[in-house]
Amino acid sequence: MERKVRTRIAPSPTGDPHVGTAYIALFNIAFAHVNGGEFILRIEDTDQNRYTEGSEQVIFDTLGWLGLDWKEGPDIGGEYGPYRQSERFHIYGDYAKKLVEDGEAYYCFCSEERLTNLRDRQKAMGKAPGYDGHCRSLSKEEVDAKLAAGEEYVIRLRMPYDGTTVIHDRLRGDIVFDNDKIDDQVLLKGDGFPTYHLANVVDDHLMGITHVIRAEEWIPSTPKHIQLYRAFKWEAPEFIHMPLLRNSDKTKISKRKNPVSLIWYKNEGYLKEGLINFLGLMGYSFGENKEIFTLDEFKENFNIDRVALGGPVFDLVKLGWVNNQHMRLKDLKELTDLSLPFFRECGYIGETVTEKEYSTLTKIVELQREFCTTLKEIATTSEVYFKDEFSLPEITPEMDKKEIKSTERLYTAIKDEIGKKSIELFAEKIKNFPTDEISLEEAKATLHATLDEIGEGPGKVYMPLRAVLTGLTKGADLYNLVFIIGRDRTLARINSMIKKYNI
Ligand code: GLU
Repeated sequence: MERKVRTRIAPSPTGDPHVGTAYIALFNIAFAHVNGGEFILRIEDTDQNRYTEGSEQVIFDTLGWLGLDWKEGPDIGGEYGPYRQSERFHIYGDYAKKLVEDGEAYYCFCSEERLTNLRDRQKAMGKAPGYDGHCRSLSKEEVDAKLAAGEEYVIRLRMPYDGTTVIHDRLRGDIVFDNDKIDDQVLLKGDGFPTYHLANVVDDHLMGITHVIRAEEWIPSTPKHIQLYRAFKWEAPEFIHMPLLRNSDKTKISKRKNPVSLIWYKNEGYLKEGLINFLGLMGYSFGENKEIFTLDEFKENFNIDRVALGGPVFDLVKLGWVNNQHMRLKDLKELTDLSLPFFRECGYIGETVTEKEYSTLTKIVELQREFCTTLKEIATTSEVYFKDEFSLPEITPEMDKKEIKSTERLYTAIKDEIGKKSIELFAEKIKNFPTDEISLEEAKATLHATLDEIGEGPGKVYMPLRAVLTGLTKGADLYNLVFIIGRDRTLARINSMIKKYNI
């Protein structure tokens, strides 16, 4: 009978959750989905030295944020639990000892000192480091005597010395390893803790994992795992090694060159839809030239054979484009709600938001989402819609000639005849609005009417208006500005500037 497809990710809680974890989770989820299977989450926390407090919870939170849901896991349980290796410690020792009984593994009593010397000698001879099999042929009596004497030991796998181990990788074809190059790896450490290899294989087996889809960097571990499955006489899962995400210089993605923490992407204001979509483009093509899709669409259409192995580059510019597309697609109210923390961070709104503020924010978001790449950018580029008190820019020595000229022009524009008249006429028209609310069409019509009545070019009329409404030489589109800030704040800005500059 065909086994039910079960896939997993098995992150170690050793720090900030990595984009690579989300990437691998996405492909595991999609693979399980199209095969009518299940995806589970296991926490591999056997390495106490690298354990980071709180990191497990952040893995749950960030994967949850992205909608990468698991059917079983440490937080929700399941019939193959526990799903946290630290709660399964009692299991691994017995399995290691069973391999010893079957002659597939052996006790090794070599001291740290001997192993260090061995490594140094191998290094000096230009050989690859590896265990030399010193304890492989100890007799049962010798072993028992050492155990009885309380000597410290590890348990090692007895690797065959000849032959080959082959990974039949669905994406990469057969990868062949000479057995004599594979070390007699440690399965159980001196402190009784399992190594990654032992715990990983035992758990994948006991949890019914049928497909191990993990990053390319684990390829060197896979022959060891295949040998462990053989030694246990267990059916091995199918191994599929995904390409590594890369920096733009094609090196393995790294903190120094590219943000890798999922928390960073969340705090930066990428939408979960944007990040997921982008990860779904890494080494994968959806087909039909479709670049923008949802998680559900990705899952529905998934075909693992479309994974390409050329190292996908994690390009933030492309991510920005993808995220922008999703910001445009998103329900406006939802997007506004999601952007609130970012406006708050900029100090533009307080803890609670009035109805009026909310309506202004909605207008800003609707406008800004057209060209911003993140929620944070929407907020940080919105100052002009919030700051009612401002001054014209000072001319400073750092300015280049062009800037000096355009700034000087701003000062003359508000003082000359046309400028004064334009400001006055425009203010008059705005004052006549019966409500604070001005529609975009009305704002446009008012600005056009001012232009027509003054009878001068748009530069002559709009420059002084822009100066009193924003204090800037360029930027914000005036139609939208008036629409967003409304009658009262438009007038307040004009009046305050009239006073300040004696217009
Ligand atoms: N604990 C390993 C990790 O941190 C799991 C690797 C695997 O998928 O086997 O990614």
